[in-house]
Amino acid sequence: MNSMNIKALMKKYQIIPRRSAGQNFLVDKNILQKIVLSADLKTSDNVLEIGPGLGILTEQLLETAKKVVSVELDRTLNYVLKQEFRKNKNYSKLMIVNQDALELKPVDIEDFFDHQPYKIVANIPYNITSKILRKFLEFKYPPTEMVLMVQKEVAERLVSIPGEMSKLAISAQFYSDIEIVSTVSRKCFIPAPEVDSSIVKLTIKNKFPEIDVKKFFQIIRISFAAKRKQLKNNLANGLHITNSQAEAILTKANIDPTTRAQQLSLDDWVNLSKVV
Ligand code: SAH
Repeated sequence: MNSMNIKALMKKYQIIPRRSAGQNFLVDKNILQKIVLSADLKTSDNVLEIGPGLGILTEQLLETAKKVVSVELDRTLNYVLKQEFRKNKNYSKLMIVNQDALELKPVDIEDFFDHQPYKIVANIPYNITSKILRKFLEFKYPPTEMVLMVQKEVAERLVSIPGEMSKLAISAQFYSDIEIVSTVSRKCFIPAPEVDSSIVKLTIKNKFPEIDVKKFFQIIRISFAAKRKQLKNNLANGLHITNSQAEAILTKANIDPTTRAQQLSLDDWVNLSKVV
């Protein structure tokens, strides 16, 4: 892999990484390769990259992809990227956008990729991981897959099993198949963050076409409203029904009414939303 020297770039442009923007630049070539390999890029692929930073991943994505759109919030980094990639042989395939990725609208993505499917491949800022996941999982124009560098604990939460399920885990598992590709030491970044990371791959699938999605997530919101309370109480409160009505619904869905929300499996939630 013929990749750029991040330290030299930081020096050249006098970049002082901003912690508030989650700026931890990847410098480990093996990890870089793992990200690119797990994205399984084809020459026909469109890629949305969120937070390209100094472009270490961007450069590799451009080697194979048909088109890469890199959305970077930081204005200085946008300038650096444009300066540096101007000389790149694949520059015509790259679009650098100075924007907050959280503000992207479906029409923006349609414009970027001419209504074609796209993948997200990104080493994203940790402080917006949940927001990015939620946004693009629930997006009107979702990617076909997401290969993301996330905080190790977040990766573990995404693949949680019943007993420790969170709303984020349910949502991720509802919309996708999730695989932890690799764990990544904090030493692979400059500056080193305070936590270790993992590469995760989410393959987006329409797993439950028969489900009313709005109702499904409404029930989950209701059920997690008071985490210490039994499921039947949360359900009764949220649906404005009596405790015994809530109990009847849960029993019909084969769920113990005294259980708590984090104990349910994805299949339990699917059953429940069919019964309600
Ligand atoms: N992908 C690069 C940089 C990772 S650091 C690498 O692997 O080295 C995270 C990057 O996300 C930073 O460049 C930061 O400026 C950018 N960023 C932070 N918040 C953002 C947002 N809301 N939208 C787009 N980019 C953002």
